[in-house]
Amino acid sequence: MIRRIGVLTSGGDAPGMNAAIRTVVRTAIHFGIEPYAIYRGYHGMIRGEIEPMSSRSVSGIIQRGGTVLKSARSQSFMTPEGRAKAVEQLKEHAIDAVVVIGGDGSFRGALELDKLGIKIIGIPGTIDNDIACTDYCIGFDTAVNTALDAVNKIRDTASSHERVYVIEVMGRHSGYIALYSGLAGGADAILIPEVPYRLDEVCTKLEEANAKGKTHSIIMVAEGAAGDPEAGRLPSDSPSVQVANYVQEKTGYETRMTILGHIQRGGAPTVNDRLLASRLAYHAMELLHQGKTGKMVGEADHKIKSWNLDYALAQEKQLDLEYYHLANILASI
Ligand code: ADP
Repeated sequence: MIRRIGVLTSGGDAPGMNAAIRTVVRTAIHFGIEPYAIYRGYHGMIRGEIEPMSSRSVSGIIQRGGTVLKSARSQSFMTPEGRAKAVEQLKEHAIDAVVVIGGDGSFRGALELDKLGIKIIGIPGTIDNDIACTDYCIGFDTAVNTALDAVNKIRDTASSHERVYVIEVMGRHSGYIALYSGLAGGADAILIPEVPYRLDEVCTKLEEANAKGKTHSIIMVAEGAAGDPEAGRLPSDSPSVQVANYVQEKTGYETRMTILGHIQRGGAPTVNDRLLASRLAYHAMELLHQGKTGKMVGEADHKIKSWNLDYALAQEKQLDLEYYHLANILASI
């Protein structure tokens, strides 16, 4: 029986984490479980930054980006000694179970706690949307809408000045933000880690589009796009620098580059992220209330589900390449 839970956010923050924290705290109380905050992820767990929460401590946060519990990375938690200290702190505070809101790394940490006999549940929160099994992670929808808003604005100036714009978005190993904002924003090319590309082919596409009367173009690039080994990339360059330089040189079109950076992490969560966060967190608490542990909650085919966390972490997230093919068709006509 679970009497007291701790909730933490860890790794990269994502809009909607607060909505998840709010639901964890309030549904814990609903189930007769005492909610405790663990501040600064595993770093704070090791240091005993653990405090009781009440329904009021999560008032007025549903609309806020970031995480009121703060987030941190912890090298110490990567070691058995660090984890032993963390478990000691949990025991000292009589915490029976921990709800971990975060990404892949945070979930690997949660699995280590599971091995040490602590009950855990993972709630996927990462703008990269790179957790398998669940279709969407908390924060992705807000981030992709922020990226799309930027694409719309940049398109205005791209159109006025008849330029090519290269827009780099986040995603070190994942092309989700680039693909979704690219398809929704009418990009002419989308360059992502999951699909190899040749820049001479991108240039040919731009020239063909130009011949059909298009006077400006948008190229979306994920920060983790592989780059084109044939196109003379300097090792320190981001892939978007390579794209912009290559396109300008090869086509002669005036080309500009924008790196969106951390604006993609912040901001008020969208309705989708708030709903997803609330529904996932509720299901996480239901599972814990039933004594279930070692799981991750998520949404698949519009239903809230759960999977064993070790299973979910062993799967590779598959990007739906239909989106990619559709974007290519729309750009080439
Ligand atoms: P994210 O959850 O966004 O992927 P990180 O990869 O930075 O973020 O992971 C967050 C924290 O989780 C790390 O700082 C570390 O403390 C913990 N962590 C990550 N991987 C492991 C692991 N294999 N074992 C134990 N702890 C881990």
